Amino acid sequence: MTTICWFRRGLRLDDHPALSAAAAGGPVVPLVILDPAEAAARPASAERQALALRPLDEALRRHGSRLVVRRGQPREVLRDLIAETGATVVHTTAGFPSASDDDPAAAVQACGAELRVHPPGDLAERGSVLTGAGGTFKVFSPFFRALKRVDVAAPIGVPELTAPASWPGSEPLDWSEARASMRHGWDPVARAARPGADAALGSLEEFLDGPVADYPEHRDLPGLAATSGLSDALAVGEISARSVWHRCLPAWRSGAPGVEDFLSELAWREFARDLLHDFPELATRCWRPEWEHFPWEGDSDAAEAWRRGETGVEMVDAGMRELFATGRMHNRVRMIAASYLTKHLLTDWRVGLAWFEQTLTDWDAASNAMNWQWVAGCGPDASPFFRVFNPDTQAKKFDGDGAYRRYWLSPDGAGARLFAEAAPRSWGVDPSAPRPEPLVDLSAGRARALAAYESLRAANS
Ligand SMILES: Cc1cc2nc3c(=O)[nH]c(=O)nc-3n(C[C@H](O)[C@H](O)[C@H](O)COP(=O)(O)OP(=O)(O)OC[C@H]3O[C@@H](n4cnc5c(N)ncnc54)[C@H](O)[C@@H]3O)c2cc1C
Repeated sequence: MTTICWFRRGLRLDDHPALSAAAAGGPVVPLVILDPAEAAARPASAERQALALRPLDEALRRHGSRLVVRRGQPREVLRDLIAETGATVVHTTAGFPSASDDDPAAAVQACGAELRVHPPGDLAERGSVLTGAGGTFKVFSPFFRALKRVDVAAPIGVPELTAPASWPGSEPLDWSEARASMRHGWDPVARAARPGADAALGSLEEFLDGPVADYPEHRDLPGLAATSGLSDALAVGEISARSVWHRCLPAWRSGAPGVEDFLSELAWREFARDLLHDFPELATRCWRPEWEHFPWEGDSDAAEAWRRGETGVEMVDAGMRELFATGRMHNRVRMIAASYLTKHLLTDWRVGLAWFEQTLTDWDAASNAMNWQWVAGCGPDASPFFRVFNPDTQAKKFDGDGAYRRYWLSPDGAGARLFAEAAPRSWGVDPSAPRPEPLVDLSAGRARALAAYESLRAANS
């Protein structure tokens, strides 16, 4: 009896519980659905997924199988493919709902089949790392201590795959709707990405061979390639978190420098997933309800200047250019840019979250929402709102020689040229134009943010 394995992210063959379960049931049709709603909502992430499809198809073919790609709303695609193959079971992975607002389980059931949902290969099952009182951790440090006591399950191998008697038709591996939604006219994401499960493993090995030892000192320096660069591979599921964890275990146990710091960052990803599981509105509502009364400003010309990298603040503008031109942004710079938006510009964190959702190749519902709420001060274990980053001081500390800012801002910087090519024509980007004047005076912006915070505190006291 043929079964369908619907790859929702999880774009790999090893450590894939849904694929292993499908393979145990007989011939498997591996399916990817290119949903236009997903391409419109998260184009950079969708394009990053599209880049992973060719390596996935090649890996499947090495195992006597192949990828079936279909475009459309998941419920319609599943209905058609179930009818074509006679499958009675569809296996898939939990945690990655599509942007289409449909209910695939009901759609599958309506065809007389069953949707079986499997875990994604995270470090722990959702809801299994709990406080002594049985609740979800709201603070990271005790969460990480508890996670370290968990016996993280070993990754599972690639299952033996059996081909169906005949292959259903497939569409091209290209997700042109995603590129169209990015408004680039060309594909900067493809230049910046290293797609495929083998490449992800290669990135991990290269990182563990060298940079990890200096990770604690260098991870905040955006001018260096000092971090693993694995977030987009983890987000699209070319490598599982527990594969990374187990690969690091021997070095960690032998006390190799930097490894625990690295695993603690991976644990932040896990912490975010537990928080989203516990509070599904994490991307739309302040986790601390009183913050819904904070006088945030909505979208505005200032927010648009932030999106385009035209705030007049070097570190913020460099980061926003990096984001638009590559789909990536260094973590330290994300914190600086997010803090500037929510504090100096007093803009609602959801405005920034939405832009990151459109532009990040490593977009992840849980990590994006948790980090925005963390920076804005309204989330669990959040950075206190009154701690307002001064972006110029941050630049001196973390980009002391100015290399990162020159790359993205100076007229002859390679990054500045990349950004000028990537930006929509309507933005009128001219790399040789003088830098814009600051949108706000940093001291005045800080004072305004602190006054707003005081008004919230007074209202709640
Ligand atoms: C406002 C804001 C929004 C963010 N949105 C996302 C997002 O949508 N998707 C995403 O994957 N990360 C997000 N991050 C976290 C972080 O910036 C990226 O994971 C990191 O830059 C990835 O680079 P790396 O793979 O080289 O990380 P490394 O330093 O090598 O870290 C290893 C892995 O740990 C995880 N990780 C590291 N830092 C964090 C963190 N703060 N929160 C959660 N996981 C973390 C990532 O999976 C990363 O690949 C956001 C951070 C901020 C401040």
